[in-house]
Parts: sequence; C-alpha cells; structure tokens
Amino acid sequence: MPGDLITVSDPATGQEWRLLTDFTSPGESWLVLDRCPECGTEVPVVRIACLADLGDYLAPETDLVLDDEAGDPSVHGAGCALVPSH
Ligand SMILES: [Zn+2]
Repeated sequence: MPGDLITVSDPATGQEWRLLTDFTSPGESWLVLDRCPECGTEVPVVRIACLADLGDYLAPETDLVLDDEAGDPSVHGAGCALVPSH
C-alpha cells in the first residue's frame, strides 16, 4: 500500500491508530486504517480531515460509513463479504 503512514496514539487508552495520507488532498485529509470486520485485513475505512473526525469515527453512536477506498478488492482478503462484486 503506497503512501505516508502516520501513527496516532490515544493517551487515554493507549490505543494506536494508523492514518494514511489521502493523495487526492495531501495535508488536508487522511484515511483511517482499521480491521475489516469481515476478513480482518487492515484496510482504509474512513476519510478524516482532523483528529476530531477520528473521535467521531470511534464514538459508539456513530454509524460506520465505509469510504470508497474500503471497497477496493485489492486491500481485502479473498472472498471478503464487504467487497462489492461487479
Ligand atoms: Zn474485508
């Protein structure tokens, strides 16, 4: 996977998050890497513009809306149910 990888850690929980620079708007948005709930592969799940957006993504009341990048079959395991079949 190409791109600049940034690791952000949450001091409250010790949890680490890996962010990937979004090439369509470098310096302005990032893609959050997280485990795919279906195949367990680390994939870019959502696009964020700031760390507050990461907080929104992590908030339990937020419905998870996968970004376009998350539907790229090349980043998922074989036969992953989240990959749209065309
Ligand atoms: Zn998957």
